[in-house]
Amino acid sequence: FKKISRDRPSKDELDQMANTFNNMMELLERSYKKQEQFVSDASHELKTPLTVIESYASMLKRWGMERPDILEEAIDAIHSESIRMKQLTGQMLLLAKGDTQWELKIEKIDVADICRETAKYLQQAFERKISIHLNTDHPLMMADGKKIKQLLYILVDNAIKYSEKPIDISISRSNHSLLLAITDYGIGIPKDELARVYERFFRVDKARSRDTGGSGLGLPIAKKIVAAHNGEIHIDSEEGKGTTVTLKFPLHFSNDSKVSLIED
Ligand code: ADP
Repeated sequence: FKKISRDRPSKDELDQMANTFNNMMELLERSYKKQEQFVSDASHELKTPLTVIESYASMLKRWGMERPDILEEAIDAIHSESIRMKQLTGQMLLLAKGDTQWELKIEKIDVADICRETAKYLQQAFERKISIHLNTDHPLMMADGKKIKQLLYILVDNAIKYSEKPIDISISRSNHSLLLAITDYGIGIPKDELARVYERFFRVDKARSRDTGGSGLGLPIAKKIVAAHNGEIHIDSEEGKGTTVTLKFPLHFSNDSKVSLIED
């Protein structure tokens, strides 16, 4: 901005002040509306598991003592809905934190190791084959290992939720970047919905997503983790054919110049 003199601002300077002020008001209004929408969507999302918990708790209160079948069903439902609520609130807190409040613990990580761990865990949990194609020797990068693990978990979990076939993860390197691609051969995302998948709480098919435990917060979190590592995320998808999510990270990542490094 040009500095405005304190004593006698010219007409140009006054115009500039008015413009700046209007732009600021517009930004504030947009950010306020976004917050308002987030709170409203979040309350709505939490209401569903809470209603289930409340109705099962009422059933338990009325018949729990004499009906062991109800007892078991109610405890199971209350347990799984509480897990869902815990997961949801955790995701919301993560998103509600401003970028500067995310404290990244940057260390040297081997992305292939993290992929193997995530794949092993999800492969066992969902009995789905996940193949890792390693096209580079040592895919080392400077990153927050826990966050990268969370990122992979979100993307591979989505690939499992929205497809029934085996999943491929490929790791490669180009110039000074590390490339990761997660490919599934499932239902895909319709073209006109693709741009919206990073919106908080957005799901192409709400019912299906909830059945599979989805909240519509996975990809917004994924995008935030990628951005925090100066990376890029890109989704290619074709309805009925499948989806590939590509991640690109700089090998030399510097978080506020606290770290720099690395080309193995
Ligand atoms: P969710 O928890 O519902 O999966 P996400 O934010 O991770 O939320 O994804 C948003 C929506 O994008 C999903 O509800 C789903 O409709 C769509 N989506 C995400 N990943 C895939 C995929 N691999 N295949 C098909 N659809 C996907």
